[in-house]
Order: sequence, then structure tokens, then C-alpha cells
Amino acid sequence: MKILEDILSQDVNKIWSASCKIRHIRDTKILNLLAAQIPQILRATDGIQMGASEVHLSSALKKLNFVERNNEVSSEKRLCFCELYLTDIFYSPIEEEKLGYVEINEVQNIPWNEKYQCICRACKQYFHVDAREYHYTWFEWTKK
Ligand SMILES: [Zn+2]
Repeated sequence: MKILEDILSQDVNKIWSASCKIRHIRDTKILNLLAAQIPQILRATDGIQMGASEVHLSSALKKLNFVERNNEVSSEKRLCFCELYLTDIFYSPIEEEKLGYVEINEVQNIPWNEKYQCICRACKQYFHVDAREYHYTWFEWTKK
């Protein structure tokens, strides 16, 4: 699997690219395959100077740990993928809507700080999202 090869490659750009892809995958077969490789990923990325891409790798690992944890509990205790929005500032509500995961109900176009109201299409949880500008745009998601 290309994503797995990339994240194990010890090449910063490939690790970054694979990590960003993992952020948006919801296919449980692929996620389970990747989650089974967490120890290998940790070993392969240990000591690699990721710089600004570090946050993407740690978000990818957080997601794979989330997948693993979900697999260990009974189905009614499984958390929805939207829980990850609370801990990863790179989930754009616009992109999530394009992927069909959320529906944006309201946008407030405040310069430098757009605000969104949206709902997870899977579990119907409402979110308030603040878009913030620093050297890049990031998003702060809170449950409503
Ligand atoms: Zn949800």
C-alpha cells in the first residue's frame, strides 16, 4: 500500500504526504491495515527531523490510535470520526463538506476569522468552527 510505504519511507515529504492522506481516510479496511502498523511507523519515524510536518505525522498517529481504540470497544461505544476534529486543527469544514462528512449550515465571513456552523452527517453532532490565520489557516472545532 502506497500510504504505508510512504509513511515508512523515512523521507520527510513522503511522510508528510501520507500523514495528510490518513487525515481524510474513512475506509476502515485501509485504516485497520495502517493501525496494525503503528509500532513499525513509530520505529521508522523515530528521530526523523520533521520540522513543521511533525504535527501532521502526530495527527495521523492519533487517528490510527483512535481506530485501534474503536476496534477494542463494543460497537455502541465506538466514537464517530468527527471526534478527531476536536484534536486536529487541519480539518477544514469546507473540505470535510466536499468529502461528504459534514454539512455546513451557516458561514459568517468575518475577516481573518470566519466562523462555521456544521453538523456531522454520520452522528448528527453539531459543531462550531473558527477559522484562524497564522502562517497558515487552521480551524478550531467545538461541539455545540
Ligand atoms: Zn460524527
